[in-house]
Amino acid sequence: MSGAIRVLHQSPAVEGHFSQQLEALNWHEVEAKHLNVTEADVRRALVKSKRDINDFAALISPAAKPFINDMLAQSEQLTRQRFGNTVSLFAPLYLSNTCANECTYCGFSMSNAIKRLTLDEAQVEREIKAIKAKGFDHILLVTGETKKVSMPYFERMLPLFKPAFSQLSMEVQPLEREEYAQLKTLGLDGVLVYQETYRRTTYLEHHLRGNKSDFNHRLDAPDRIGQAGVHKIGLGVLLGLDDWRTDSIMMAYHLRHLQKRYWRSRFSVAFPRIRPCAGGIEPKSVISDLELIQLIAAWRLFDADLEMSISTRESPEFRNHAARMGFTTMSAESKTQPGGYADDAKEALEQFEISDERSVKDIANAIRSQGREVVWKDWDPSLNLA
Ligand code: SF4
Repeated sequence: MSGAIRVLHQSPAVEGHFSQQLEALNWHEVEAKHLNVTEADVRRALVKSKRDINDFAALISPAAKPFINDMLAQSEQLTRQRFGNTVSLFAPLYLSNTCANECTYCGFSMSNAIKRLTLDEAQVEREIKAIKAKGFDHILLVTGETKKVSMPYFERMLPLFKPAFSQLSMEVQPLEREEYAQLKTLGLDGVLVYQETYRRTTYLEHHLRGNKSDFNHRLDAPDRIGQAGVHKIGLGVLLGLDDWRTDSIMMAYHLRHLQKRYWRSRFSVAFPRIRPCAGGIEPKSVISDLELIQLIAAWRLFDADLEMSISTRESPEFRNHAARMGFTTMSAESKTQPGGYADDAKEALEQFEISDERSVKDIANAIRSQGREVVWKDWDPSLNLA
């Protein structure tokens, strides 16, 4: 039936997990937090040393636009204090583009007639060699979401990576707590699970088929990652799926919930904006470059210890100023198709278009020209106490 939303099932909210807290958060009440901000609210938020969610809402509101330079100056100072004079580089490695989900914004969606590829051990070894040759020591493994690339596959593949990389993160389908714990024993340091949007109705409009249509199961994945003792937990929304300000405030609630419970973990956020892809969609709310800069500075003022990551979806011009904005981590020379580093497998469709196609060397030089040092890993493994 055209236009109908097919929902497989919905997991109930789990006690103590964020899904339970979200049930008490009314979208329109949260939206009002940034709609009703006055200049006085912004000025108050700017001078505080410890900021709460209302301050964050004030700083991302339209009323804060005249204060962006003040926010940027504070953001840069805080970033230097907490992270030093450095920017960390990582490489995303797409292990598979097979996917049993239908997401309206993604080129890997199951109904897209593209060549599907899941790397085997020999292909992975070639990718590792190609990525190491570029100097990377931090790798992010990315897959679509299907049974073919689930625990048995991860258990086979992770041991190939750990000898070569000092930091190993994953962005794959949501798993169970025991599964995260098992992967941690194989060297997993961090897991990123982006909720895309915290508005359930919008979420269901964009996740039409497959396990990803289970909103609560995805929403509670960061709780399960924290319970498994994984060192780093990454959150994100796809800016533009719904109102980007309200979604960002919801993510701030999510972050605070996790920080209270899993205080030994570190946290990161990312800022993907909807980009063109096969079967692409129009954003519901467009975030301009200036608004994205405001949002990033507001996150830094909200949480000085937060790792913030920028991908090659953004333009070279924008990324050249990433360090000043408060970013701590960047991907570089990314290939978003499986086998892309060693084999340059052009026939497998990319997940999204790369905007910054510069070489790692050129990106590193651009970072240095901004007065920053490039680091190839983002923390000392001896600090992994969780
Ligand atoms: S966003 Fe992820 S789950 Fe959705 S179609 Fe793309 S790869 Fe699959």
